[in-house]
Amino acid sequence: MKKIFYDYNKTRNEFPFLNEKIYGKELIYFDNAATTQKPLCVLNAIRDTYIKSNGNVHRGNHYLSNIATQTFENARETVKKFLNARSECEIVFTKGATDSINLVASTYGRQFICEGDDVIVGQGEHHSNFLPWQELCKEKKAKFTVLPLNKDGTISLKLLSQMITERTKIVAVSHISNVVGCCNDIKAIADICHSRNIALIVDGAQAVAHIGVDVQKLDCDFYCFSGHKVYGPTGIGVLYGKQEILSIVQPFEFGGEMVDRVEFDTSTFADLPFRLEAGTPNYVGAIALAEAIQFVERIGIDLISEYEESLVGYICENISKTDGIILYGDYNNSKGIISFNLDNADAFDIGKLLDINGIEVRAGSHCAQPMMKHLNVEKTVRLSFGCYNTVSEIDLFLNKFEQIAHLLRG
Ligand code: PMP
Repeated sequence: MKKIFYDYNKTRNEFPFLNEKIYGKELIYFDNAATTQKPLCVLNAIRDTYIKSNGNVHRGNHYLSNIATQTFENARETVKKFLNARSECEIVFTKGATDSINLVASTYGRQFICEGDDVIVGQGEHHSNFLPWQELCKEKKAKFTVLPLNKDGTISLKLLSQMITERTKIVAVSHISNVVGCCNDIKAIADICHSRNIALIVDGAQAVAHIGVDVQKLDCDFYCFSGHKVYGPTGIGVLYGKQEILSIVQPFEFGGEMVDRVEFDTSTFADLPFRLEAGTPNYVGAIALAEAIQFVERIGIDLISEYEESLVGYICENISKTDGIILYGDYNNSKGIISFNLDNADAFDIGKLLDINGIEVRAGSHCAQPMMKHLNVEKTVRLSFGCYNTVSEIDLFLNKFEQIAHLLRG
């Protein structure tokens, strides 16, 4: 195993949750793709905002409102830098990745998809980047095309080029798969899309906590993620959209914050990004998300990436020795996630037996049933790592897993 100079103990000390026990056992948390635990700086930001500086944003002109507004807008600036967007007006706060994708489908999608057009989605998509497009196509009588994947779960550039038609208007793909952790070549996909005048939306829910993301280099038109998967709180997420595209998107939710002037006969709306953020935003969530991003930046996303890659390499090398193990995807291209099954064993049984030993993993179809079809299975067991996981946790897991495999083999 490659030596990496990373003080994971320092990181672990930031996470009070890791001291918890379940069923009286030491906790090992390997379900970071579902949600991550929160460092103290994030917990403190939520608490401090509510105790010391809580006022509604972009509304009042009193002290608390001004402070909250300033901190909220600083959070937008932090996200802008994190994604390397060109401008803060390209950063829209949402409830999460699902909300961001639905926002694009309900605005840009509704505006530009007509009867007979088509939308292409990857077969590996999470349901959140599959269903909004399927529903939109149903509503608009457009064609919904599912793009088959390469064996390792990545998007095939060749097939994508072949399946694009004159009527393709939108392509929707994930940056990193939530099932096998494979990483798509987004820039190459963007080049194909743009050469045919197609908008590309990228679901980055599994990417931002694991690899550096630069939306200008990726050149995607939309990019989204959820705060809770990058050590931030639940209920806050981000939609990035290129300014020239967001500026032609009509608002679809109406209320406070998004207006300019309201008259009896007609009304005008605020500039970007506010016109896409109707109502009181989750400003405390956004402020805490900025803390989470700064936490990741203090460690360094490249170091986290390298470290998690080494954890994946280590576990795959060892788990592949287990009799009857079936590993999915290609762990040389996996960003912190492995998925597997054991011959003749039910993934739920494996998950439950690990759980009662204090090891939290995910077993199921991972909200990605089309991807299960690609793998030709109903369910897998998934382990997903974060910056606080360690080789000794993996060793404890391997030890328990060997016993469980033995038990299930009978
Ligand atoms: N896309 C991917 C790839 C995901 O893994 C998830 C969450 N599992 C989502 C979208 C949806 O995220 P959320 O539920 O936070 O909106």
